[in-house]
Amino acid sequence: MSNRTPIMAGNWKMNLNHLEAIAHVQKLAFALTDKDYEAVEVAVLPPFTDLRSVQTLVDGDKLKIKYGAQDLSAHESGAYTGEISGAMLAKLKCAFVVIGHSERRQYHGEDDALVNAKVKAAYQHGLTPILCVGEGLDVRRAGNQVAHTLAQVDGALKDIPADQVRSIVIAYEPVWAIGTGEVATPADAQEVCGAIRGRLVELYGQEVADEVRIQYGGSVKSGNIAAIMAQPDVDGALVGGASLDAEEFVKIVRFAD
Ligand code: PEP
Repeated sequence: MSNRTPIMAGNWKMNLNHLEAIAHVQKLAFALTDKDYEAVEVAVLPPFTDLRSVQTLVDGDKLKIKYGAQDLSAHESGAYTGEISGAMLAKLKCAFVVIGHSERRQYHGEDDALVNAKVKAAYQHGLTPILCVGEGLDVRRAGNQVAHTLAQVDGALKDIPADQVRSIVIAYEPVWAIGTGEVATPADAQEVCGAIRGRLVELYGQEVADEVRIQYGGSVKSGNIAAIMAQPDVDGALVGGASLDAEEFVKIVRFAD
């Protein structure tokens, strides 16, 4: 049993406007209790346009739900139309920022070098990265999921020092399981999450590796989360579709009940 506090994070993707966001966070806040927050760190990751509303609600009602963004710019400021900087997210008191989600890698051409620059930008502004890694179906079929995912980890963490990495959250998300209803088996999740921790040991030593929280993501639901969380190197979940249903997300937070 590790000392790591599990983290359940809801990636809303491009869903819920700022009014719907308030209603959704209110539902979560109403359902979650101190017992839940003692056991699990709970975070929501809304679209940028919802962040100010979520911040106002969380600050005003002193909610224990954390929040963050789904991406950030690698740049500090300036002529980067459409981008959002780490400083802007920090000003909104975001705790987390998702970096390198497979949908960013796939539809926006993000490569490991850009992901690495974004990890650096996040730490520059005191934001905790939720770094997404994971293989596509072809790689899985060829049996190369571990090598592929570890190469992404190496690329993302290039020149990131140990004192920063100890706080990172790494989400192992096999691309073939995202939004498909096809969940990895607990053994599949453990194979790669365990290998990620092994690589962290090689890069940063056992003590740092033991602190890093590694999530599984890909069609997580209340019905499959307990078996995945029983794996020794899985410390939480990055939840997409199921996080849009407040009742379902609360059940996922309560995976141990
Ligand atoms: C995700 O968006 O990171 C994700 C895992 O989505 P889903 O849970 O819908 O598969």
